[in-house]
Amino acid sequence: MYQLPIIVGEYPVQCTCPQCKAQIVTRTEKKVGLFAWLLCGIMVLIAFWICCFIPFCVDACKDTEHYCPSCNTLIGAHKKL
Ligand SMILES: [Zn+2]
Repeated sequence: MYQLPIIVGEYPVQCTCPQCKAQIVTRTEKKVGLFAWLLCGIMVLIAFWICCFIPFCVDACKDTEHYCPSCNTLIGAHKKL
């Protein structure tokens, strides 16, 4: 097992893959995380329930996961919360 380096960014970063030791630029994936759920909850509370689905459609509200493009190992994650 290896320690996941903490990646604090929403955009792909250049690093060495801990799994295949290749010099790579991470592939990022957006995941619906706690932040999007929280935003949804707040919108429901203040009667914006019509648009409470928006946090799930807007990438800026989602968490970002970084994967190695050659071996698909999860390298790090950027969480909104
Ligand atoms: Zn790799």
